[in-house]
Formats: sequence, structure tokens, C-alpha cells
Amino acid sequence: CGIVGYVGQRQARDVVVEGLRRMEYRGYDSAGIAVVADGAIAADKRAGKLANLEKAIGEQPLPASTTGIGHTRWATHGGPTDRNAHPHLGPAGRVALVHNGIVENFARLREELLAEGVEQLSDTDTEIAVQLVERAVVAGSDLTTAMQQVCRRLEGAFTLVAVDAEDPDRVVAARRNSPLVVGLGEGENFLGSDVAAFIEHTRDALELGQDQVVTLTRDEVVVTDFDGGAAQGTAYHVDWDL
Ligand code: GLU
Repeated sequence: CGIVGYVGQRQARDVVVEGLRRMEYRGYDSAGIAVVADGAIAADKRAGKLANLEKAIGEQPLPASTTGIGHTRWATHGGPTDRNAHPHLGPAGRVALVHNGIVENFARLREELLAEGVEQLSDTDTEIAVQLVERAVVAGSDLTTAMQQVCRRLEGAFTLVAVDAEDPDRVVAARRNSPLVVGLGEGENFLGSDVAAFIEHTRDALELGQDQVVTLTRDEVVVTDFDGGAAQGTAYHVDWDL
């Protein structure tokens, strides 16, 4: 299980797939990717090895994009199928999100969403998170604020990474009881479950603390707590080889 995020100048699909490959050693049963292009999310996700996903996007290429997220899944809720693989999208198709960990209170949140007529397309504990984040951005919040709001309601362990089709140059991530590291580049920034995801591109890393949200653009990395207050990660230089 691993997550990857990228915003910069290169082809996001290449950076994301490469990052996922570097995290294969962590173990997984499915893999997926989403990029933002022309005001829309383009995504693909497959059960099985990363090679299955690569074959699928080889046959049906994702559009050119410099913003993307990726995921390798270790299923905890819902079997290892294409449908349950991440990224998950909100009902408007505007927000895509990946998750490592377990949202312990998903059943209660799912009831709330069902009561509003929002149906689940997967059997995961993850889908409610993207539905809640998308609901907040559709209501007018920016993606960072939406992520903070939703994280305050989630219990359990999670690394979340999301993109908004209408805010194409931003990637937002959050963590609680689950790892998340930022890779600091020049005109580009990276996210990974660990530095393996981006070490070939940069060795300047920023480890997020507990209950923090990070917003990445090409030129900026901004860390907050779940209430939106300023916060700081721990910066370090990776001076070892993997
Ligand atoms: N609990 C989520 C699921 O089953 C995420 C699992 C993971 O950490 O990959 O889909």
C-alpha cells in the first residue's frame, strides 16, 4: 500500500507510475491513478499488479497533465476488484481521492450520505471521504479547506490525497496515524508514503506530523493542522541510498 502525488512540469502519469513502482515492495493488491486535464479528472484503476494498470493506460492513454495522484491498495473493506481500487471519485466527477488506512467511522458517515441520496459505487471505507470532500468544494470551499473539514470528522488511520478538476494546479493531502512525506523540488513538488516515491527527483523531504494537511502547488508547500492553523512538518535531507 502506497500513495503518490505530483504537481509540476513533467507528465504526471509518468511520475506517478514510477513512484508506484518504487513502492511496490510495500505490498498491494490493486493500483490506480488520476490526473487533472482540461477541467476534468481522468482516472484508471485495476486489481492486480501495477503491470495491469500500465497495460490499461498503455492501451487507453491518460491525457497530458502535470498534476496527478496514484495509489497501491491493500484491501481492508471490500474485495480487491477494479471497482474497489482507488482513486475514488465523487458523484460530480470533480474530486478524485486516494486513501491508505482505515476510516473507522465510515458506516455512520455513509448513512448520513445515503440519507442525502448519495449512493456508494464501491464497498470501501474510502468512498465516503471523497463524497464529503467533493460536497464541500461544490458548496464553495477550496480543496484545502474541504480536506480540513472532512478530516475533523474522520476517525481511524488515514493518508488521503485529493485533486479537484476545477483547481488543476493543486494537490492536497492529509495524515493521521499513517505516513506521508513531501518531496520538495524546483518548480515541482511530490508526495509519497515514503521517500522511495520521489527520491530519484529530489532528496529534500518534509515529513508531515500527526493530524496535518498539506497543500502542494508547483512553487509552494503549505502545512496546516485540521483546523486550518499554521503548522510545520519536519524537514530533512535524504543522504542515504535506497
Ligand atoms: N481501507 C481502504 C480500502 O480498503 C484503503 C486500504 C489501503 O490502505 O490500501 O480500500
